[in-house]
Amino acid sequence: MSRIVYVNGEYLPEEEAKVSIFDRGFLMADGVYEVTSVLGGKLIDFDGHAVRLERSLKELDMASPVSKEELLAIHRQLVSENDVEEGLVYLQITRGAPSDRDFAFPNPDETPSTIVLFTQNKPGLAKSPAAQKGMKVITIDDERWGRRDIKTVQLLYPSMGKMMAKAAGVDDAWMVQDGFITEGTSNNAYIVKGNTIITRALSNDILHGITRAAVLRFAAEAQMQVEERNFTVEEAKEADEAFITSASTFVMPVVEIDGATLGTGAPGSVAPRLREIYLEESMKAAV
Ligand code: PMP
Repeated sequence: MSRIVYVNGEYLPEEEAKVSIFDRGFLMADGVYEVTSVLGGKLIDFDGHAVRLERSLKELDMASPVSKEELLAIHRQLVSENDVEEGLVYLQITRGAPSDRDFAFPNPDETPSTIVLFTQNKPGLAKSPAAQKGMKVITIDDERWGRRDIKTVQLLYPSMGKMMAKAAGVDDAWMVQDGFITEGTSNNAYIVKGNTIITRALSNDILHGITRAAVLRFAAEAQMQVEERNFTVEEAKEADEAFITSASTFVMPVVEIDGATLGTGAPGSVAPRLREIYLEESMKAAV
């Protein structure tokens, strides 16, 4: 069945939705995005995603074509029209389509931003079997640009990283800069030593994960120790546990790094507990 998607003010069947070949998202990856998960037909942490979107737009001096209230209404309408019980809403805003290709930004008064939203149905997102098993990762060099705190659609290197993981027969890649883990290709990375959760501190080196912020808050509330600092690949391989967070995977245990098995090779106690708390608390607050 064809989805109903949203493009520049219109709700359309996906095959009728069109964007110009001069769109700067297409030509220059000049665009930002957000992915918000849907559980029980409701949006998880919509506010967090809306605030980060605003920040990404501001950092790139890009105008928002919609207010936060309109954005929420569009998300809700798409979830409803497409009967999404569990899944995702993808949102992308680009600097629009000027009349020709040019490196210089177009005048925003003449070239409005392009906005596109669509849903992805993912039944069983919360009860993912992968969360029972845990995932395996390899480490790769972090060869992305220097403003990873802005959620741009320049996802070529993360895509290449996923392909490297696939070729190595594992689930994902953790990226490494100067010997320290930055993050996963599409998620934030954590290790656990004893009772302490360790994750890289926020900077321009990583995306400021919305799930990360919530999980660290819940961890502190549950009296778990949290250290926001750099950690090396060696430290990660010797950790008791590891996990990732993202809007689409929530909290997902990692059981192997570069072939080194963590703990017993099955998810430990911290990551599954955090996953449970995160799902419970965020579903309570869903809108
Ligand atoms: N880091 C990167 C590079 C990502 O692409 C993502 C997911 N988009 C995250 C971290 C996790 O962010 P969030 O929890 O907001 O989904």
